Amino acid sequence: MKDCGSCHECCKDTLKTVVDGEDLCASGQCKNLGKSGCSIYESRPSMCSQYECGWRLNDMPIWMRPDKSGVIVNVMTEDVIYFKDQMVPYVVPTGKTISERVLNYLVSLGRPFRFVQEKGDQVSIGVYGDEALKIHVKELGATWH
Ligand code: SF4
Ligand code: SF4
Repeated sequence: MKDCGSCHECCKDTLKTVVDGEDLCASGQCKNLGKSGCSIYESRPSMCSQYECGWRLNDMPIWMRPDKSGVIVNVMTEDVIYFKDQMVPYVVPTGKTISERVLNYLVSLGRPFRFVQEKGDQVSIGVYGDEALKIHVKELGATWH
């Protein structure tokens, strides 16, 4: 498994980190995130110690690391859905838009995925996959993001 290095994207408000009803990242990044990482690392919540993003777990290039690529390929949360026995990850932009390079890379993996992309006031839900998957995601509505 890869090392996170200087990436701390999953400690920011890109993902929800709610512990005992408190959103730790309400101010934009986790209140426990210091300059050199998590200040309560040894006793961090289990949802943090168990979290692994798709970049860490899979054979993705270094430039796809979330702080470099601008996306977290989320493969471990309740947001993940399964369709035709295949996992459909939820790609979460850490900034405002997913770049063409990143999008092309994700498409080149040849696996379905879905994402939410913001452009100005416009929010679009993207699904990469066959028509049946698109219909399935539409039926799920907004419940998964
Ligand atoms: S987003 Fe991935 S690479 Fe970055 S800190 Fe979290 S687990 Fe590590
Ligand atoms: S508690 Fe630590 S590991 Fe968990 S989100 Fe906050 S800074 Fe990150």
